[in-house]
Amino acid sequence: MTDQITIPAELLPADGRFGSGPSKVPAEAMTALAGVGRSVMGTSHRKSAVKDQVGRLRRGLADLFSLPEGYEVVIGVGGTTAFWEVAVFGLVEDRAQLASFGEFGSKFAGAVKIAPHLGEPTVVTGEPGGAAYLSAEDGVDVYATPHNETSTGVAVPVERVDAEGLMLHDATSAVAGLPVDMSRTDCYYFAPQKGLASDGGLWIALMSPAAIERAERIAASGRYIPAFLDLKTAIDNSRKDQTYNTPAVATVFLAAEQVDALNAAGGLDAAVKRCAESAGTLYSWAASREFATPYVADEKLRSNVVATIDFDGVDAAEIAKVLRANGVVDTEPYRKLGRNQLRIATYPAVDPADAAKLTESIDYVVERLS
Ligand SMILES: *Cc1c(COP(=O)(O)O)cnc(C)c1O
Repeated sequence: MTDQITIPAELLPADGRFGSGPSKVPAEAMTALAGVGRSVMGTSHRKSAVKDQVGRLRRGLADLFSLPEGYEVVIGVGGTTAFWEVAVFGLVEDRAQLASFGEFGSKFAGAVKIAPHLGEPTVVTGEPGGAAYLSAEDGVDVYATPHNETSTGVAVPVERVDAEGLMLHDATSAVAGLPVDMSRTDCYYFAPQKGLASDGGLWIALMSPAAIERAERIAASGRYIPAFLDLKTAIDNSRKDQTYNTPAVATVFLAAEQVDALNAAGGLDAAVKRCAESAGTLYSWAASREFATPYVADEKLRSNVVATIDFDGVDAAEIAKVLRANGVVDTEPYRKLGRNQLRIATYPAVDPADAAKLTESIDYVVERLS
């Protein structure tokens, strides 16, 4: 029966990609990538064709985030998961305090916990669907939290805890879609396959002078640091628009395309507004339907880049299956959350008009399933 539900074309989004990561890559960026198929792809990452793309991405991000004096854009290979280990070796001096309120915050906390060279961290936990809050603590030299917890759709504001500890924010899904004042963070890091509409394989960190100084001091301290995870090496290479080892060149290019497009379309403020519009459409629709409720009860914590909607009286997995059969993909919830839910990314690349169409598609499907 599920297979037989055909959503009328006029109710379908123009682009049916709503995955939280990897996420929609704009068609224009793919066309642009094809255009450099010979001049950039398949050429040396130590020569100007590729280095120019790395430089374009670094400058574009500095612009998009209005980086304060002395902040630097640092790039390395391996995604956000690799950056957690980079931070374990190169940013945490001894004791960290970490917020864990979903899958990704919990993973970074786990990486810090098992590091034999670090002191026992403080892990502040929150129930999925809620947040966890950092607070000033003696002896803590790094405070870390997700800016947006992609697994649950909970976002917290970027704020400093105290004057001593470095602030680390995992912005893999928040980047370019949620507001941030960079003076309130020392390391705003992400992989580019979610909020930045690119592909995976890289980590990018926007680092304050204090974070750079910390990385340099730890590197000089004699601590054992695997070369691949050496933040000082990454900083040195980034200053030359390079990476320590071979980067994912297409990922660099697609990220640079998206950052340039966002800058041309009004910068971070405009992108933040666009995401708020898309997410607002989904939340107010859910609130107006008997069968749907926003999962995150506290409105202040509801993410404008990943909207999680619980369903009642209808099987969300069936809805997702019908949507997929109709070309609307990746609305399934985070697998380990185990809820009767849809998770819908409303990143800057997603057209707010498509978010609205999605609600019409879901209405159509629910009417036929229930
Ligand atoms: C997806 C995600 C990660 C993991 O990113 P990888 O590039 O796959 O390592 C980490 N943190 C957050 C918040 C994420 O959404």
